[in-house]
Amino acid sequence: VDAALVSAVGAEHVLTDPDLRAAAEVDWTGRWRGACRAVVRPGSTEEVAAVLRICADAGVPVVPQGGNTGLVGGSVPVGVPGAVVLSTRRLDALAPVDATGTVVAGAGATLAAVQRHARAAGWAFGLDWAARDSATVGGAVATNAGGLRVLRWGPARAQLVGAEAVLASGAVLSRVDGPVKDSTGYDLSGLLCGSEGTLGVLTRVRLRLVPPLPAERAVALVGVDGVPAATGLLAAARRALPGLAAAELVGAAALALALRLGLPAPLDAEWPAYVLLETAGAGALDDLTAALAEAPGVGDAVLAGDAADRARLWRYREEVTPAISAAGVPIKLDISVPADALPAAWEALPATVSALAPGAQVVLFGHLAESNLHVNMLSVPADREPAVVEAVLRLVAGAGGSISAEHGIGRAKARWLGLTRSAAELAAMRAVKAALDPAGLLNPGVLLAGS
Ligand SMILES: Cc1cc2nc3c(=O)[nH]c(=O)nc-3n(C[C@H](O)[C@H](O)[C@H](O)COP(=O)(O)OP(=O)(O)OC[C@H]3O[C@@H](n4cnc5c(N)ncnc54)[C@H](O)[C@@H]3O)c2cc1C
Repeated sequence: VDAALVSAVGAEHVLTDPDLRAAAEVDWTGRWRGACRAVVRPGSTEEVAAVLRICADAGVPVVPQGGNTGLVGGSVPVGVPGAVVLSTRRLDALAPVDATGTVVAGAGATLAAVQRHARAAGWAFGLDWAARDSATVGGAVATNAGGLRVLRWGPARAQLVGAEAVLASGAVLSRVDGPVKDSTGYDLSGLLCGSEGTLGVLTRVRLRLVPPLPAERAVALVGVDGVPAATGLLAAARRALPGLAAAELVGAAALALALRLGLPAPLDAEWPAYVLLETAGAGALDDLTAALAEAPGVGDAVLAGDAADRARLWRYREEVTPAISAAGVPIKLDISVPADALPAAWEALPATVSALAPGAQVVLFGHLAESNLHVNMLSVPADREPAVVEAVLRLVAGAGGSISAEHGIGRAKARWLGLTRSAAELAAMRAVKAALDPAGLLNPGVLLAGS
């Protein structure tokens, strides 16, 4: 197999040395660590097809990997003996932006590269989050990722016009050329969105770009005395600010961790929760100031109009994930609930965890507009982990929510997918998997437990 892989992509792109493989064998959080026979880095769709054919013939499992910033253990070869990690990082070509504002990007292009490319053509890319310099557009589509601009532009699925992918057999599906309007049967590109590397390897994606946000913007970091106040503030901001572009929620424990990285306290007093709002458009700072003066629930606030000050305020949100990792290896869950269930879930989550793991620290933050909470738990004893995760996910399912709002299911939550997807849905997913990857070689153990 290794010799065939070398002849397909070149010896310098088949990494078998343990030191060279190491970074691809552990995830961003350090929680998921495995081993592979080789990291293979094809440089074209044809090379991806050749790699997958070689692996199919030899019965070798394949773990697709983009930027390896995923947070659910789906990008690393854990419990998949003899697997190949197929890195998409060399598939990073960007075609010119077309007249309709779409662009065909290599799956291995980073979010930041697509953002820069879009900007240079007078457009913007609707996806953005803190891992922008490493996360790839292929990974974003594979997980149907969301991020900081979902409020305005929707998740990865909403940016996707079409995809090119290689199936486990080596067959290539390509829907990245031609008209943007297409009504010819099954949406195979849409099916690949959120498939987490279990149905095919995305090689190129055609993305719908968006108009750039106006340069005039304002950001506020608002201290609130609880989540009901935060949701009331958001409702008022939505009505008052047509240019509203972000609404993020940071709990007190999350902010405290971010401050440990050296940020100064943002407000004079501490608050149970903080809301970060961003609005864009002419008069943004005045509009935001006026909206906060009228809105209910504002305890205290700091506002910023110029770019450097806005970036400073954004750090209180963006440094939370790195700060949690600096504090330990967290259990990470990414849940959403119906909007009216958010305050109760926020209260119940720490209590649910403490009941099973009294010494645990629960750190909550997330995307307020979608009631999407990142539930991070530190210091949970290893023998309590499954019970804690299950209790949290059952709480969310009971509230009518989703056990993954944007990170995907990965390995971390595969066994709980049935909490929020019906038996009929799971059977349909398994049927699709069996049809496209009958030998189960693509990302075994991810998304569908036992796949
Ligand atoms: C600091 C930080 C902040 C984050 N913030 C957010 C956020 O706000 N919103 C959000 O949604 N996510 C966020 N994430 C999670 C992560 O960035 C996303 O899940 C991202 O989409 C993963 O992209 P990636 O290229 O790193 O994929 P990887 O981590 O390499 O892979 C993720 C999954 O996709 C599969 N995959 C990757 N590329 C392909 C491909 N070409 N074809 C088929 N399958 C593929 C992998 O097998 C794996 O299952 C954050 C992560 C970090 C570290």
